[in-house]
Amino acid sequence: MERPDIIRKTAQDLTVPPNLANYDAVHASFSWHEAERELAGLPGGGRNIAYEAVERHAQGAQRDKTAFRFIGAQQTRDMTYRELSAHSNRFANVLKDLGVGKGERLFILLGRVPALYVSALGGFKNGSVVSPLFSAFGPEPLLTRLKLGEAKVLVTTELQYRRKLEKVRDQLPNLKHVLIVAEEGKPAPSIPGTLDFNALMEQESDEFELVPTQAEDMALLHFTSGTTGTPKGAVHVHGAVVTHWATGKYALDLHPDDVYWCTADPGWVTGTSYGIIAPLLHGVTSIIDELDFDAERWYRILQEEQVSVWYTAPTAIRMLMKAGSEIAKKYAFPKLRFVASVGEPLNPEAVWWGREALGLPIHDNWWQTETGGIMIANTPAFDIKPGSMGRPLPGVEAFIVKKDEQGNVSVIDQPEVEGELALRAGWPSMMRGYLHNDEKYRKCFAGELYLTGDLAKRDQDGYYWFVGRSDDVIKSAGHLIGPFEVESALMEHPAVAEAGVIGKPDPTVGEVVKAFVSLKAGFEPSEELRLELLGHARKRLGAAVAPKEIDIVASLPRTRSGKIMRRLLKARELGLPEGDLSMLEGGA
Ligand code: AMP
Repeated sequence: MERPDIIRKTAQDLTVPPNLANYDAVHASFSWHEAERELAGLPGGGRNIAYEAVERHAQGAQRDKTAFRFIGAQQTRDMTYRELSAHSNRFANVLKDLGVGKGERLFILLGRVPALYVSALGGFKNGSVVSPLFSAFGPEPLLTRLKLGEAKVLVTTELQYRRKLEKVRDQLPNLKHVLIVAEEGKPAPSIPGTLDFNALMEQESDEFELVPTQAEDMALLHFTSGTTGTPKGAVHVHGAVVTHWATGKYALDLHPDDVYWCTADPGWVTGTSYGIIAPLLHGVTSIIDELDFDAERWYRILQEEQVSVWYTAPTAIRMLMKAGSEIAKKYAFPKLRFVASVGEPLNPEAVWWGREALGLPIHDNWWQTETGGIMIANTPAFDIKPGSMGRPLPGVEAFIVKKDEQGNVSVIDQPEVEGELALRAGWPSMMRGYLHNDEKYRKCFAGELYLTGDLAKRDQDGYYWFVGRSDDVIKSAGHLIGPFEVESALMEHPAVAEAGVIGKPDPTVGEVVKAFVSLKAGFEPSEELRLELLGHARKRLGAAVAPKEIDIVASLPRTRSGKIMRRLLKARELGLPEGDLSMLEGGA
């Protein structure tokens, strides 16, 4: 097949009229204030995510429409908008009866089961701040986040609790209530100090009067990783729902009859903004796959559920590519009309693979935990330049900037010049702060520009191209991993003197976590010790974060000020030029 640099769209590519048909005109005239008016607002004034996402539909013509279809190992369960409203009301009542007040923190550590979605929406209704955690995190990342976020309530399973949290519960003085969701088909466990989620739900009413929240009230706390220090808790507010709505419309092109599937886990921001909130806002039916990736099953879901809009990630696409196009050919996707991807660079190869295997090119888009919603995208009516993230959505102004030695930031006007990607602050889903870390938050801004930490360039047609990160944060299987968090866990092992962690390029997951450690006096390198360290890290951090490779080395390169030079470790690992070594301890 011919592979030109641009995939031109024709009328035949658009089976339904796209929501963003005239990019230039809509981008020029768009206003967030007008977008706000498209949503209802709370009857007595104010803004609440769950009201816009669920109640508007549950009280209207859509009430008996399926909101979520949960596909589990044993069964498929549908939940209508009305049922979702009733269940989330029950959970809001549970929170209220437990004395959980407005602004208090609700953490959810569950797989993609109904209780997760019901708890999150019930949490919004109660005015609580919702923080979903990824279930593949180990005890260390969980404890850090629960502590930082001052969790008051945690909804989880017996297995998660016993394996990861029971022993460290005394380190969480704010955590007043742990609610256990019984395993499928099993009786509720009785664990000291915990409550039975289902039993509490049964006692409650289906009615709940929403706690009045305002657009600027905190609604969500999403953790993201930096290069140094603990993870950062990005604070998002109820008003963010306007961006979720506008991007669901323009970037995902949601129409009321769509069957939509977002493969992301709500433990990461995509799984919340676009796995829970945006599809509900547009009143569509969402598919939730409760199980992990499996190529054959994924194709079957796309076919059998007649998915029309699919939002997935480059790692998943590369795993499908690896599984071979023979599997794809056994299935047909006549209803599929739009496929989008986010989280990591999407190589042109993957865009084209989509066209061959699914009949549609993949549309890359870009955003991050801090932006709360999609900012730059390829939308259905756009011509695609494979390898590009697309163009800024309506309401988003993007720039490429450079910093001089004094730290002054200036905008680069010419196209094709690399610099840091910056956005003009002011869209509704922009984070309102990093929890308890004002200094880091302030450092993200230069005047009214929000600096994203990503390097990119813009071409003469206004398309943005991702170049790399400006820091040492690792992106593995679409998940941001802070090297510091991994290094700290390794240093807890009695044999480890120092640790340096890098992302090593990998054809499937983008980057794998690789660690270098030096040993304390009295310890000798051995294969046995290396395996022990791998096991230790996996137990502490969980499979999603732990290093896949560990090298034991004599010493690690440090700067004169004592910082481990991860860049140098990476350059050496990849056989790249070592660059300026004047900062190196004992260096030139
Ligand atoms: P997170 O906050 O975990 O969602 O990660 C955000 C980061 O993922 C961004 O700052 C980028 O480094 C990366 N990222 C997200 N989308 C893309 C994309 N389409 N292309 C390249 N990198 C991306």
